[in-house]
Amino acid sequence: MKLIIAANWKMHKTAAETVSFCNSLKLREKEFSGVEVLLCPPYTALSAAAAALKGSAIKLGAQNMSWETEGAYTGEIAAPMLKEFGVTHVILGHSERRHIFGEADNVIRKKLEQALRFGLIPILCVGETGEQRSGGDTAAVLESQLRAALEGLDRESIAELIIAYEPVWAIGTGQAASPTDAADAASLVRSAAEKLLGGAMEGALRVQYGGSVNAGNIDGFVTLPPVNGALVGGASLAVDTFADLIKAAGEAAEC
Ligand code: PEP
Repeated sequence: MKLIIAANWKMHKTAAETVSFCNSLKLREKEFSGVEVLLCPPYTALSAAAAALKGSAIKLGAQNMSWETEGAYTGEIAAPMLKEFGVTHVILGHSERRHIFGEADNVIRKKLEQALRFGLIPILCVGETGEQRSGGDTAAVLESQLRAALEGLDRESIAELIIAYEPVWAIGTGQAASPTDAADAASLVRSAAEKLLGGAMEGALRVQYGGSVNAGNIDGFVTLPPVNGALVGGASLAVDTFADLIKAAGEAAEC
């Protein structure tokens, strides 16, 4: 299964900075064998990124979106607005959306349905907090987040789905999960998702690991088959660091 490495820039980079990053990343694209690459800049840089990425295989994603299509929703961005810029993927339920902005499971479910309705590939983020982990609740938390997001969805409506296992305690802390813990969680995520969706998903479902991934540790994750790529925050902000990470992922997966 082809790896997918996605950059989540969060609230970083102006449009001008994005163009400069994209131009430099394109110069290194020939080094990225066997890896699909996705950039998720802020909304305000999507147009500039789309123009800068023309002629490249690097894809464009958004970090969030509304569950509505249009209307009186001040400050929100709708799926058709994203599609206009060539956005193909959307991150939903990131832990910062859940924990800082109070997005509940039912909101994430509505956004997921909207993404599928508009042909956007969701990157659904799930993960336990440090407290839930120490309480031995990781599996229960993952199953509950997945159930809320996926139960009862029509399998036929899902051409492609990405689920990012992102333990909250590992995000931005420099303390990544161990590759075996990430692989165990990724297996659990795949089997729970397939059960909820009524059958094997094969390549239509890829499970990423996210949480303090960098060029030095990516190989440990992607050489374990349950992990099909990574969602990367901090290490995606500098072009050489990110390009080194993608290259390392491709080389590790080839071995
Ligand atoms: C993220 O925010 O999705 C993430 C994984 O961040 P970091 O790589 O910085 O831990």
